[in-house]
Amino acid sequence: MGKLAGRGLPPRLGSAPTRFAPVQSENKSRTVMRREVSPHRKLYSTARWQKLSLKVRVAANFRCEMCSKLALGKGQSVTDHKIPHRGDPALFWDELNLQCLCKGCHDKTKQREEAAGLHG
Ligand SMILES: [Zn+2]
Repeated sequence: MGKLAGRGLPPRLGSAPTRFAPVQSENKSRTVMRREVSPHRKLYSTARWQKLSLKVRVAANFRCEMCSKLALGKGQSVTDHKIPHRGDPALFWDELNLQCLCKGCHDKTKQREEAAGLHG
């Protein structure tokens, strides 16, 4: 039994996902929808935001304001809005409303905000 499972597992993992595919794509499309209903998400791809976001993180020396960890490296530091802007440009562009977080803290914060219905 043990031998069989050991030998049979890898190829199964490769071919079985058809069963899981519907669930996965449902989750995915839900995420995409969320993105599409938030027009302010486009702001994140603007050059102005990239610049401001970098400025905030450089000013913080890439140190996370929550756990004080150095968030160096690509994708390790995130510029976070202390007060969720929810599409409000005044809050979105307010430098004083921005802080440097490491990825881990940012994801935690976001989850908390989403659970409280503050995000989006
Ligand atoms: Zn952190």
